[in-house]
Amino acid sequence: MNAPSPDIPFTAERQRAVVAALRTALPAHCVLFNEEDTRPYECDGLTAYRQLPMVVALPETEAQVVAVLQACRALQVPIVPRGAGTGLSGGAMPIADGIVLSTAKMNRIVAVDANARIAVVQPGVRNLAISEAAAKHGLYYAPDPSSQIACTIAGNVAENSGGVHCLKYGLTVHNVMGVRMVSIDGEIVELGGGALDAPGLDLLAVFIGSEGMLGVVTEVTVKLIPKPPVARVIMASFDNVVRGADAVASVIAAGIIPAGLEMMDRTSARMVEPFCKAGYDIDAEAILLCESDGLAEEVEEEIGRMSAVLKQSGATAIAVSQNEAERMRFWSGRKNAFPAAGRISPDYYCMDGTIPRKRLAEVLLGIAAMESKYELRCANVFHAGDGNLHPLILFDANLPGQFHRAEQFGEEILALCVEVGGTITGEHGVGIEKIDSMCAQFSVQEVAAFIGVKRAFDTAFLLNPNKAIPTLDRCAAYGKRQARGGLFKFVKG
Ligand SMILES: Cc1cc2nc3c(=O)[nH]c(=O)nc-3n(C[C@H](O)[C@H](O)[C@H](O)COP(=O)(O)OP(=O)(O)OC[C@H]3O[C@@H](n4cnc5c(N)ncnc54)[C@H](O)[C@@H]3O)c2cc1C
Repeated sequence: MNAPSPDIPFTAERQRAVVAALRTALPAHCVLFNEEDTRPYECDGLTAYRQLPMVVALPETEAQVVAVLQACRALQVPIVPRGAGTGLSGGAMPIADGIVLSTAKMNRIVAVDANARIAVVQPGVRNLAISEAAAKHGLYYAPDPSSQIACTIAGNVAENSGGVHCLKYGLTVHNVMGVRMVSIDGEIVELGGGALDAPGLDLLAVFIGSEGMLGVVTEVTVKLIPKPPVARVIMASFDNVVRGADAVASVIAAGIIPAGLEMMDRTSARMVEPFCKAGYDIDAEAILLCESDGLAEEVEEEIGRMSAVLKQSGATAIAVSQNEAERMRFWSGRKNAFPAAGRISPDYYCMDGTIPRKRLAEVLLGIAAMESKYELRCANVFHAGDGNLHPLILFDANLPGQFHRAEQFGEEILALCVEVGGTITGEHGVGIEKIDSMCAQFSVQEVAAFIGVKRAFDTAFLLNPNKAIPTLDRCAAYGKRQARGGLFKFVKG
């Protein structure tokens, strides 16, 4: 991966003009332009890349979003939409001569309709807040990113976020029924709706996962599902990573779709245990967390079947949560793995790639070999059931060369994912982080088609430009670089 190209710096005169235009669209307290106010917006969760925005706009209503977009369109100012800024691929990283448009203040739950099993929410509503609001009806919103306490539904829509329970219940795209958004022309557009299917092309599916490049989300209609009466989780230990990885494929091959199927290697378990006291087996080379939910009898039967498959696959120990407190404790380590990385390393770089489940063992061994090659440690904690890897590359940015080695390490992991038939992202998006890897994953013709879709929504090319979709020039430069370095076999022409 390469650092994003430096943006054009803005002039004081340009900033004054943009602030003046935005102040006609928003109350003064919703327009930030002094450095001490804009500094908190300089990066998202991918903190290695930072850039101060020219101005930050904080609309409080949809009408204000419309007015901001119209003002930016008139002045040709690029716009970076932002939710809570927890994204891990730099999707919300500012552009120097652009504005950040945060929808975090639009955080009202508009309606919870228990009969229709839907909730209508503003874009800045936190993921977890939806389930909290639906709980009194015995309902919840299923996709549960580990960041759910902070991340917003608009960010989830833009990234097509996943989580521990998405193996059984689907990703954001499977749980969102409608999106209301504002186009770059200031037009309010409704995609999808309250019914299961909508007439015309399925533009909702195109929009979900589009990383803030097609429109600004102002309202989302999500599905709610009944909270299962019982949930229990198995913690299975393995003395060998390969056996643990193969057990994942065996569980699915046995016809079981667990509510969650997560894997942590020894580095990860040892990283989180002192922090979370989750009760993990820190002597195991790998542990699997396999959840079952449903009616009590169903859960008992499924836990029995999963335990049998795990034992046949070589599990050395199996513990099953006996009550809700213990289940939450088992999950606490997994859910807090990323913050726990900060305890053992000054910096970490979280990768996100997806591979066919049956290739898990091979890829984990490949990553282990890369640890020696790049002389950096890597902790693996991931959505194993989905084949969605999250290698955390540990490094110290203060030591010369370490960040560069971490970037190369990450790039080689993604190359391996594509080589075994997988993809360069599972749920964290492309952003700026993986924009070069897009050139490896897709042919020039495919990238040109993506650019065509972007152009159809955003004729002005002002919404989150230079994120997620590389330019054809960038792909050409990437192809030449890789051909010279001989690193990848699969660069597409
Ligand atoms: C500790 C930690 C754990 C995480 N765990 C998971 C996980 O389990 N699964 C997972 O999928 N992700 C995970 N993430 C990544 C991140 O939380 C998700 O990508 C989340 O959806 C981002 O939401 P956000 O509100 O923070 O969006 P931001 O980071 O602010 O923005 C993300 C993208 O959404 C766009 N966007 C934001 N608001 C709007 C809007 N109103 N209209 C249009 N576009 C918009 C931005 O331009 C950007 O491209 C994790 C992150 C952290 C830090």
